[in-house]
This record gives sequence, C-alpha cells and structure tokens, in this order.
Amino acid sequence: MKLGILGGGPAGMFAAIEASKKGMQVSIIDNNLMLGRKLSVTGGGRGNLTNLGIRPEVYYSQDLKQKENLEKTLTEYDANFLLKYFYQLGIPTYHTDDGWVYPISNSAKNLSFYLSKILQENKITHFPDTFIDDLRIFPQHISLYGLNNQEFKFNRVIIATGGNAYPQVGASTKILQALEKLGYQIKPIYPALAPLKTTKKRTFNLKGLRFNALCTLQSGNSIIKSEHGNIIFTEWGLNGPGVMNLSHYFYLYPNKLTITINPLIIFKNEIQDSIQNHHNQNLKFRVFLLSYIPEGLIAQYQKNQNILLNKSLKEIQQIPIENLIQAFDLIEDVIGTRDFKFAQLSTGGILLDQVNLLTMKSNLHNNLSFAGEILDIVGPCGGYNLHWAFISGLIAGKHI
Ligand SMILES: Cc1cc2nc3c(=O)[nH]c(=O)nc-3n(C[C@H](O)[C@H](O)[C@H](O)COP(=O)(O)OP(=O)(O)OC[C@H]3O[C@@H](n4cnc5c(N)ncnc54)[C@H](O)[C@@H]3O)c2cc1C
Repeated sequence: MKLGILGGGPAGMFAAIEASKKGMQVSIIDNNLMLGRKLSVTGGGRGNLTNLGIRPEVYYSQDLKQKENLEKTLTEYDANFLLKYFYQLGIPTYHTDDGWVYPISNSAKNLSFYLSKILQENKITHFPDTFIDDLRIFPQHISLYGLNNQEFKFNRVIIATGGNAYPQVGASTKILQALEKLGYQIKPIYPALAPLKTTKKRTFNLKGLRFNALCTLQSGNSIIKSEHGNIIFTEWGLNGPGVMNLSHYFYLYPNKLTITINPLIIFKNEIQDSIQNHHNQNLKFRVFLLSYIPEGLIAQYQKNQNILLNKSLKEIQQIPIENLIQAFDLIEDVIGTRDFKFAQLSTGGILLDQVNLLTMKSNLHNNLSFAGEILDIVGPCGGYNLHWAFISGLIAGKHI
C-alpha cells in the first residue's frame, strides 16, 4: 500500500513515522530542499515544541461542530503524551517556568535534521524541491501533479502543506485551489500570530518600549478577546505575544477594532496596598509609578494629558482602584496586521468539520487525510501550533 504525504513539515514528518510503523510504503513530497524547513526557524531558532498548558479551549476555529472530538483528541494527545513520544524518538526536552517546551539542544535546525534522518532510517522516500499544484481522486488511487505534469500515484494521501505564513521558507496554500474544486469548503487565509498595525495616536512616543500588559481587542463596545502578555512598541504599531495572539480576529470582524492596553491592571493589588501604606503621602503619582512601569510610558501618559499623574498619593487614595487603573488605559485604533512575511501562522484553510478529528480522515474522500496548519485552527504563541501539527500528523499516520 503506497502512501503519499504532501508537505514535509512537522505534521507530514510525524504522519510518515506513524504510517511507516504500519508497513506502508511512504513518500513525502515537499517544495523545499530540506524537510522541516519552517520547523527549523521556529521559536527564535530554539523550537518551542509544545506547552504544558495544552488544553482544547485555547484553540480557535471558525466553524467547529465537532467540539467533543477536538476535546478528545487534545486530551488524549496532550503535552505529556508528546513529551514521551519525543523522548522515545531520542529527543529530550525541557520547559520554562511558564510551561513552554524546547528541545534540550535549543536548536530547531538540529531537530529538523534529526527527524529527517529518522525518516531516512525508516525507508521513507523524500521527493525534495517538488511543488504539487493539482490532485485528482480516482476510486483506486490519488494522483498528485507536479509543475511539469509529473504524476505521483498513491493509494492514500495525507495533505500537510501548512499555511501561508513566512513565505521566505516556501510556505504556500496553492493546493487549496485544487481542493476547492474537489468540493472542500475553504475558509479564507489571513495572517495570524502577526504584529498589529495601529494609528499610534496615543502611543506615538513609545517606539522601542517593551512591557507586560493586558490587551483587550474590541469591536465597538463588545469585547472580542483579552490577552495578558509581553508587548513591544514599533514604528508601525505593536508586536509581541500579547497582541499577536489577538491578530487573527482582525479579519473576522468587519467593524473598526480598537485595542486597549493596560500595564497597571496586573499590579492592581500591589498598587492599592502601596498607595494606602506609603510613608510619603505627598509623593506625586507619576513618581510612584516609576516602581511599576518604564519612564517612557509615564512620559507618554503625560503627553496624553493624564491629570492623575500630578496628584499626590493622598489624593489618589480617594479614587476607587478600578477607576484609577482604567484611567491608564491606552486605546488605539487597529488598522491591520503585518503581512504573511511577519506572521507565524495563518488563519483559515480546510474547514475543520470536513475532517474526522479522531482520525484526521476526510469526510468527503476515504483515501484522503489532512494534518497540521492546513486545517482551520489557531493556537496562541507558546508551542500550541507545533503541538497541533505534531499530533494531528501522528493521528493521520496512525489511522491511515
Ligand atoms: C517564524 C516562525 C516561528 C514559529 N515559531 C513557532 C513556535 O516556536 N512554536 C509553535 O508552536 N509554532 C511556531 N510557529 C508555527 C509553526 O511553524 C507551524 O504551526 C507549523 O510549522 C505547521 O506545521 P505543518 O507541518 O502543518 O506545516 P509546515 O511546517 O508549513 O510544512 C508544510 C510543508 O509543505 C510544503 N508545501 C506547501 N505547499 C506545497 C505544495 N503545493 N507542494 C509541495 N510542498 C508544499 C511547505 O513548503 C512546507 O515545507 C512558527 C512559525 C513561524 C513562521
């Protein structure tokens, strides 16, 4: 039985490892020269492989009717499962205090190379530098067609071509056009985990500053999502996990979006306690704040004419803490995301409900499966997306 895997990223490689255990004759076709090309640049070169906090509710999909199946899959194939699986492959890992998991080598490039060697040992054939732009499904086989009408015939196929983010490493979603012709519903592809572009009306002086804040994305008065995380101010707007985790919503809401950044809310209890008990009640609030946030940020609040800065702690004490914290909201208009070149993921792709999430088999064609980022599912920064790629690939290979 011949299995063709289109896409040699983490999803395709794990699918190949599992399918070869079943005695299938496995081939991987990829447009890059090396396997795991995108994997090799992940996590700032270190490869943030999974997260100890993996749980179904952190993933987002635009039209999820099989919530229960997604929950089952992510509960069975959780971080512990994946860590053991890596260990058995000879890839020991470690995690940071906040649960982000990396290989001990701290090298995503080493990991890609190592996995490609495992594939070689398992006699998996690799067709490098081969771009597939069409596929046809026949009762007994599936044909994949290369750019110069080269034809590859397989009994079964797993499509693991990933998303559009980071085209520098060969990312492409061209195959979705062929899948659409075969009857698959495709959600439009947009950048996700991308920096946000803002008007910078109230943050014009903050370029280069980096701090933790609560970031809340809103459409009019309704809150879309809040994220707590590190943010970095840049010449075009905002970068860092705190805002990147919100970026995919930009394309899903037709109305104008705003982002509210509050750096004080995380210190609410400390600030309240310290204002009450400070030995110098005449201290100006702008000086008091130096113990919590960068000086440049206080200067920006001054430029925004925040009148509370010049009040003494004695006066500040009279203001209810919620109102005080809220007075330090920085509200910006969001005007877009940066493009795919700067994104870590794309949102959209194959509608999740067209796949059985317990097996990754297509609901439309029983000899076709899908895995990884080609499916319409987004996780936050922190290893969640590689986790999805690894486990969905593994499941697809196991159930082929
Ligand atoms: C800079 C960056 C850093 C990231 N860091 C992290 C991180 O630390 N942790 C994390 O969890 N996630 C991270 N991600 C996201 C993560 O890389 C992806 O979620 C993951 O690679 C998806 O795996 P995949 O196997 O589905 O697709 P991919 O890794 O994209 O692999 C798909 C492969 O298919 C090939 N392909 C596509 N179309 C065709 C075609 N028609 N013919 C032939 N070949 C084709 C592609 O070139 C690619 O090699 C990062 C992404 C980027 C861009």
